[in-house]
Amino acid sequence: MIGRLKSPPDQWRSKSSTISHYAIAVLSVAIAIVLVEFLTVFLHTEPIASLMISAAMFAAWFGGFGPGLLAIALAVLAIHFYVAPPSNSFALKNSLFSLGVAELPRLILFSIAALFVTILTSAQRAAEQSLRRSRDELLVAFEHQSQIKDALRQSEMYLAEAQRLSRTGSFGWDISSGNIFWSEESFRIYGYDPTPFVTLDLVLQRAHPKDRTLVQRTIDSASSDGKDFDYKYRLLMTDGSVKHIHVVAHAVRDQGNQLKFIGAVMDITAVKQAEEELHKTRTELAHAVRVSTLGELTASIAHEVNQPLAAIVNAAIACLRWLNRETPNLDEARRAVEWITKEGNRAGEVIRRVHALANKTATQEAPLDINDVISEIIALMQHELDSHRVALRMEFAPSLPMVLADRVELQQVIINLVMNGIDSMEPITDRPRELVIGSRQDKADQIVVTVEDCGVGISAENVDRLFDAFFTTKPNGMGMGLRISRSIIEAHGGRLSATNNNSGLGATFLFTLPLNEEITS
Ligand code: ADP
Repeated sequence: MIGRLKSPPDQWRSKSSTISHYAIAVLSVAIAIVLVEFLTVFLHTEPIASLMISAAMFAAWFGGFGPGLLAIALAVLAIHFYVAPPSNSFALKNSLFSLGVAELPRLILFSIAALFVTILTSAQRAAEQSLRRSRDELLVAFEHQSQIKDALRQSEMYLAEAQRLSRTGSFGWDISSGNIFWSEESFRIYGYDPTPFVTLDLVLQRAHPKDRTLVQRTIDSASSDGKDFDYKYRLLMTDGSVKHIHVVAHAVRDQGNQLKFIGAVMDITAVKQAEEELHKTRTELAHAVRVSTLGELTASIAHEVNQPLAAIVNAAIACLRWLNRETPNLDEARRAVEWITKEGNRAGEVIRRVHALANKTATQEAPLDINDVISEIIALMQHELDSHRVALRMEFAPSLPMVLADRVELQQVIINLVMNGIDSMEPITDRPRELVIGSRQDKADQIVVTVEDCGVGISAENVDRLFDAFFTTKPNGMGMGLRISRSIIEAHGGRLSATNNNSGLGATFLFTLPLNEEITS
């Protein structure tokens, strides 16, 4: 590791502090000498050795080991001076080298004692300083820790508030120990008072009876497969209300390779209610548009009802004729009555279909044969096609698999596409007006229905707006037909799109419907 280089002010500061430490040594010995002089003059005692040791201790304590040694050296000189004072400067010089045999042991003993005391003092001082440093560091660490704790408490508070606002709780689930942790918001969502011991029983107890099997299955497969899970289910609260929740969890392995899940539980009741409201509004709008389209088909429908009614009247007249003969022909009369019954049923069926289109609001899905659905609705529109001189060609693939769908909603889509096709061919006078309705199963295993016309086609500037609400190019158009048709098809899991024909004449509208595995297998 590279040591920190001292900057010039640092170097200067450390140099001046070293000088001041050595100055303390000189000063302490000087003070000791002054005291010796004072005590000698006023009290006639000479505690020179003890005062010099004190000076060395003082220097070692405040300056450290080096200044302590300097103080000892100065003290030795001072003692020697007091024991054998020189008469002149030459004598002083010589006296340093001419110690008497009697003073030598005394000076050596003093030096050893002073050295010992200095070592102890400087060691004690160093220990005390390092203790103080450790205490300071500990205090700083404590302060830092309490700051971290404060920050943690604050972030927990923010998190709890954010969870409350977003109605999202968090949870942890340790598979091996079975321990479950719930945040405050999770307890609130499940409607339990906070408890340190959350169990899977609590989770299951709150699950709506109709969703309990789903919850149990998800818990079982999560703990055995150890895979992330993401599912929605309902809670039945103690007051009888129902909550919709969305649970997402991520699987993790800890250092001991133990499986744990970390997840979030979102209260999506409000979103669900908004979705339901939206669906209801869409269905009501679709209904209104359907009723208004039926208004446009009145002539066609009346024609479809009138045909069997006329047949019924004719058959009734014929029946009377066979009965009024001198010898009534009962066989012919019976045949005429059978004809009346058949035509009556036909008229009844037309009225039933119109009634279904006009009254139906809630979605009712059932397995359907798409070719039947198309044929049934085309029967109501035949007169409309005829009156606009449009020839209809049906290109149905035989025996297609059933689709799970709402009959009336699909018929609404087909009515709309056929009516648009008829409208698009209205200006065409130089070629036959032909509409082709096709059905098939494609490679992606979905049912495809196409409605192809040879009308004016879709202009480039309108191509992106066809499916927008209230987009229309017709003087009396509402611009809702394609918008509603697309939402119906998408609600069935399919797609509705439009393209101009390759021939350059007219357009093709195409919708797909997914096959339902349960009814096709
Ligand atoms: P509306 O029929 O009330 O106009 P739609 O949503 O059914 O409402 O149709 C929107 C617009 O899409 C029509 O006004 C027309 O411009 C265009 N359009 C729909 N079908 C066809 C088609 N087969 N050929 C050309 N343009 C079409």
